[in-house]
Amino acid sequence: MHNTEHSVGINTLAVHAGESPDPATGASAPDIVMSTTFIAEPDATFSVEGFDEETPYIYTRWGNPTVAQLERKVAALEEAEGCIAFASGMAAISALFFHALGAGDHLVMSDVAYAAASEMANELLPRMGVRVTKVNMSDLAELRAAITPETKLVYAETPCNPLLRLTDIAAVATIAHDAGARLAVDSTFATPVVTRPLALGADYVIHSLTKYLGGHGDAIGGALLGPAAELAPLRKKVAIRTGGILSPFNAWLIMRGISTLPLRMRAHAAGAGAVARFLEAHPKVTQVMYPGLPSHPQHELARRQMRSFSGMLTFQVADGPVAARLLAERLRIIHYAVSLGHHRSLVFYLPTLDMLTTSFHLTAEQEASYRAFAGDGIFRLSVGIEDPDDLCADLEQALAPL
Ligand SMILES: *Cc1c(COP(=O)(O)O)cnc(C)c1O
Repeated sequence: MHNTEHSVGINTLAVHAGESPDPATGASAPDIVMSTTFIAEPDATFSVEGFDEETPYIYTRWGNPTVAQLERKVAALEEAEGCIAFASGMAAISALFFHALGAGDHLVMSDVAYAAASEMANELLPRMGVRVTKVNMSDLAELRAAITPETKLVYAETPCNPLLRLTDIAAVATIAHDAGARLAVDSTFATPVVTRPLALGADYVIHSLTKYLGGHGDAIGGALLGPAAELAPLRKKVAIRTGGILSPFNAWLIMRGISTLPLRMRAHAAGAGAVARFLEAHPKVTQVMYPGLPSHPQHELARRQMRSFSGMLTFQVADGPVAARLLAERLRIIHYAVSLGHHRSLVFYLPTLDMLTTSFHLTAEQEASYRAFAGDGIFRLSVGIEDPDDLCADLEQALAPL
């Protein structure tokens, strides 16, 4: 599949890209190479300085054949020159920050992003001498005003967790590049099936492989994608040294998950559309946010930037904490649990006050935007690939006592 990776359809890519039968045994499915070390040539160097993407395998923290197959597969799907797999989405984000930012640099970040990434920007980055400004990335004037000559990186997430607010990637890329900064997009909620940030002008893409790409809730992993000329030094100077590398076993599980990604994304989007319409018509539900609903404030942008609307939605009811207890106790199919993007449906309640206290330290204006999407709290529902009628019936019976 090496020569044709960019010229075949996404279903074919998902199955074949990056993988090749084992030349020794002819095994059709990828092997799991768990070996931590590899037999070396007598002139092999122990120094990472001599390391490049062509160096033979020497030690699994530097590179591993199973992990490399996964990296090639994700790169092909995202049409990226390079991909580095990490032990988690957060390890990928940390490696990007280490690579792109140093003391004296400035980061402009979305005011609402994955909680741990936001919290890292609140505490760890300032301790390293990086100045951070958080902006509402859907407000391009706010972004323009925040950029300074020291701004090295603009960091966005779309659709963002947990609000499902969208960022116009092409517009933000233009603003970042005009200022000499790079743009990173966390595309975990969209997946390469739905949005291609690099084609829209982003420099780096991040995925938590734990979510839709792995897709089955049984392996944590992350990926960072971008230009080969940058990822090669990033692997050498950051990934190998900070050490948050992916286990070959998890790489194998995630590769198997990716084989069905386009199929699953069709089911997730169809199911989420059906559940969103059901909830919007439910008398006890006060608001539903789903990029595919005409009621989403950025529905037009969603239609432009997303090939389908993925499987994430949020909803509100009058009394969130009471409904949270009902859902946790009464749901029979949907699991009341964190995380998302699994074949199983998952729902979790996120109280606004908790989010604002712990993760998102917002200005009054930013808080108004947060509350426009989330009220006093939202249920984040990751719609799985079960029959949508069963999911609606499960929600109906669980919410009945409200
Ligand atoms: C889960 C998630 C992450 C972090 O990924 P882990 O694999 O849990 O470290 C980052 N960004 C988004 C949008 C996520 O949903």
